[in-house]
This record gives sequence, structure tokens and C-alpha cells, in this order.
Amino acid sequence: MSAVPPLEPALRLAVTLLHSYWVLQDPVDQLSVARLRAAGRDLGLAEVTDPLGEPELPPLRELRDRLYAVFAAPDPAARVTRLNEVLAQVSAGTAVESAPDGTLRLTPLPRPGPVGPFAALVTGALARAAAAGGPDRFGVCAADPCRAPYLDRTRAGRQRYCCEPCNNRAASAAYRSRSRRG
Ligand SMILES: [Zn+2]
Repeated sequence: MSAVPPLEPALRLAVTLLHSYWVLQDPVDQLSVARLRAAGRDLGLAEVTDPLGEPELPPLRELRDRLYAVFAAPDPAARVTRLNEVLAQVSAGTAVESAPDGTLRLTPLPRPGPVGPFAALVTGALARAAAAGGPDRFGVCAADPCRAPYLDRTRAGRQRYCCEPCNNRAASAAYRSRSRRG
């Protein structure tokens, strides 16, 4: 059984970016500068979200797509490969830095430009989560059409759905199909 990755603020920011797109919300794409800046302020990461403006939305969507592909990859090895591809794109090297809890951790150095620090921060957080918990904790919701990405932080590490409602919908659909066959 792998360790549960800690939910650091940068990881929450990564989840905010990833969850800005969801087929079950209207509109499906709710990425906005205001949303990211608000999340950054809440999480104490305003220094990476405040420089973001409207011109950064296209590259942020691209980053979101590339990170989603990590979660949607068919197996753990492919997830690591895709994560490494994103890391290579967003980082200008790697550094050891002090984490908020005083320990040292590896972090990608940002590339220049307003998206640079944000991209390096959220990708670094996902990389640390993968290193701590293993790539099998990355997945997409098994409910159709949801397919939302999730990072499994349950102790057992056997999550299949993004959220309780998806889990319940799938459970009652399975129950209905069992009773029909009944
Ligand atoms: Zn779901």
C-alpha cells in the first residue's frame, strides 16, 4: 500500500486548474483569471497567480490538457512518461528548496514568462504527489461521461470515481442492472 500524498497548497492549485474543465458543468470550461487568482489568494500562492492575465488563458488551457493526459494515461508507466514530458516543458532545471514544513524538497525551476512560475509550481506539486503516492493514485473518474481527473488520497488507494455523487450514481446504476437481470 502506497503513502497518501500530502495535500499541499500547490497541489490544491493544480486541482483547481484541472477541475476548471468538467463535462458535467455548464459551461464545461470555467477557467478564468479571476478564478485562478482567487484560488491563489486563498492558498497563499498569490505570487504565482497574480501575474496571470487574459493572454495567459490559452497556454493555461494547454497546460491543463497536458496535465489531464497524465491522469488519463492508460497505465502507471505511461502516467510517469507524460508527467516527465510536462516537467521537461515547464522547468528550467531542478532545485532543492525548503518546504513550508521545514523539510527540503525537489522543485522544478520556472521558465520565464507569466505562466512560468504557475506551471512549474503545479507540475512540481503533481510530481511530488506521484513520487510520494505512486502513479497508480492518478486516475480519471470511471463514471461516463464524467471522466474528471482525481488524485486518490484514500488510505487503501482503490478510488475509481472523482466524487461521492459519481460513486453513488454508478452504484445505483449497477444495482438497477442487477435487479433487471434478477
Ligand atoms: Zn466523476
